[in-house]
Amino acid sequence: MTVDPPPLTLRDLDQLDVQRLNGVGDKRAKALRSNGIESVLDLLRTYPRRYIDRTREARIGELLEGEEGMVLGRVERVENRRVRGNRSMITLTVSDGTGRIKVTFFNQPWRAKQLPEGTDLVLFGKVDSFRGSLQMTSPVIDVIGGDQTGRIVPVYPQSEKAGYGSSELAKWNAEALRRIRPRSMHDPLPAAVVEANGFVDRMTAMSSIHEPETMATVTEARRRLVFDELFSIQLELVQRQKDRQATAVGVEHAGTGELTQTLLDTLGFPLTGAQERVIDEIVDDMHRNFPMHRLLQGDVGAGKTLVALWGLLTAREGGFQGALMAPTEVLAEQHHLGIRALLKDIRVDDPASLLPDRPLRVELLSNSVSTADRRRILAQTQSGDVDILIGTHALIQETVQFFNLGLVVIDEQHRFGVEQRAVLREKGPGNKEPDVLVMTATPIPRTAAMTVYGDLDVSILDELPPGRTPIVTRWAATPDEEAGMWDDVRSAVAEGRQAYVVCPLIEASDKLEVRSVTETHDELVGGQLYGLDVALLHGRMSSEEKEAVMSSFRSGDTDVLVATTVIEVGVDVPNATVMVILDAPRFGIAQLHQLRGRVGRGAHASTCWLAGEATTADGEARLEALVESTDGFELAEVDLELRGEGTIMGERQKGRNDLRLASLRRDRDVVVLARSVAVDLVERNDPAIPELVDETSVLLGADDTDFLLKN
Ligand code: ADP
Ligand code: MG
Repeated sequence: MTVDPPPLTLRDLDQLDVQRLNGVGDKRAKALRSNGIESVLDLLRTYPRRYIDRTREARIGELLEGEEGMVLGRVERVENRRVRGNRSMITLTVSDGTGRIKVTFFNQPWRAKQLPEGTDLVLFGKVDSFRGSLQMTSPVIDVIGGDQTGRIVPVYPQSEKAGYGSSELAKWNAEALRRIRPRSMHDPLPAAVVEANGFVDRMTAMSSIHEPETMATVTEARRRLVFDELFSIQLELVQRQKDRQATAVGVEHAGTGELTQTLLDTLGFPLTGAQERVIDEIVDDMHRNFPMHRLLQGDVGAGKTLVALWGLLTAREGGFQGALMAPTEVLAEQHHLGIRALLKDIRVDDPASLLPDRPLRVELLSNSVSTADRRRILAQTQSGDVDILIGTHALIQETVQFFNLGLVVIDEQHRFGVEQRAVLREKGPGNKEPDVLVMTATPIPRTAAMTVYGDLDVSILDELPPGRTPIVTRWAATPDEEAGMWDDVRSAVAEGRQAYVVCPLIEASDKLEVRSVTETHDELVGGQLYGLDVALLHGRMSSEEKEAVMSSFRSGDTDVLVATTVIEVGVDVPNATVMVILDAPRFGIAQLHQLRGRVGRGAHASTCWLAGEATTADGEARLEALVESTDGFELAEVDLELRGEGTIMGERQKGRNDLRLASLRRDRDVVVLARSVAVDLVERNDPAIPELVDETSVLLGADDTDFLLKN
């Protein structure tokens, strides 16, 4: 009696060297390896970029001038010439037995080497005629093997350096599938999930993506494989979240609502609906005994600071200290001033001493604090006399000892690393971890957030406080328009308002940036802004200098602040109503939106000027998006559209790509589905989980899963 060998798992396929396949010798194996394809699994996960549906193919003799057409033919002749302006012109003559067509490329001399005589290729493009013969100029070209006779031909990503072509990849994949088929592929996704979603099984999916019968089967295959990719990421994230909740011990805050009520009474305005909802989510987390790890996404000006304060007061109600970390000294300083003012009437019972009632104490720990003050603040933080400590990241990195830290709020933090979380764990009372609230004003689309921040709980503040006058955004692309822009600054100042001028982003060096902002400042003082009170702010100034400049601007003594992007985050001066961003095309959408958010914070109508000429189509699209929309979430979608997911995944994707087939843009619905399936399986502790987790580690690379924490 023989026992059938079990179906092959992804791990099996990952352990199978590509060289074991017929047709892959030493040389090819080396070329494949240099492109990151080492195992049969790597090969199978090298998916076709697109397909040529040969049922739609025409014969060259049937092509009609003026129409688009697809033909398959062989290169008969290659001519390489120089034409007017010393441009190179490559002309191919392609024939298929029914006729000939000329194919022309300008300024692409490498085409001669890519497409030598005898190459079989597919041409797709518009047919015109030149001197009596049919011609295509710069058509879409795919090199395929002449022996590829299926009705639907897969086209794999090709590069000149690869050392193999699309037809070889097709052949090797077909060979791999032929060898796998008798044993088939193991499919650990529970049958109920497969059925409920109408998925094809994995063997079918892999077969159809590489050797499709019809385009409809490609669509089905893609849906299944895209799901698998997104699901493995979600499973990792959801599992991680669950593990943390199971093992980590957090502070159980017993908020009474007493202090937050006092805050609400002093505010003079009600919370927005979104603030109420988000506060509920946060307070709910804080009441539980596992550590909160929550991300608060909210557009610029949505009122995140108030939400943070609510959390900090909730912590204090239960007798715990809070910390607020800001990314810059300027911002920490500003938070300190603002929060102190808001909380000045709040009194608390002292947790450490027997003194019953004293004012709530908020302190700032920054570089501009004197040594004596610093020593006092550190001592009082340790003894529990400081209730809320504000500062930069130094707060948790340095040897700051807390009496009983219950909540850490991290403002405008784009990178929240593993190390920081580790440090935080140690800062809590006893062996407990403090709750953590991370706030960001750089919204990313929901499905992207699910992927990038999928192990955090996410709260969204999607409503601006009432009574804001929308910011009008204008683009000054010409010198005339720029003149109008400076007039606008002058007239705003004449009406008692203030303005910001942000100088070009210079990534090369800090030093150059300082020089540029200083030059711009001097030029404006002697020119367009002559007679106004103009101040300068940049990152290289000392803390004292910066604070002096900011406080003069806050008090209204300074009319115009010329600055680098140090003012990007959080700066809040409601009387400032004009924002000028010089050389705006150099900035990204998110950054422009952040900068713009510095105005429109008071009752007066505000304007944001984007100055500069766009030199690329993307640059133009970015500025146009800013002119058209003030909604950060909408802009985030545009940004994703323009830049692709690579940048969102950004850091965490370094050197690797989990998403071979899935797109966070096109496959939004699948992201949502994958998340909900992962949550469901993890909640029910489905018996398939160990196998699925094992697959995830094969797909994501076991040593590499920590990337998920790096954002
Ligand atoms: P951001 O989300 O950008 O950090 P802030 O917290 O700085 O926004 O709030 C922006 C401004 O809106 C502040 O001046 C704040 O006092 C005000 N604000 C916050 N919440 C409300 C509200 N519910 N109603 C009216 N104004 C509010
Ligand atoms: Mg803020």
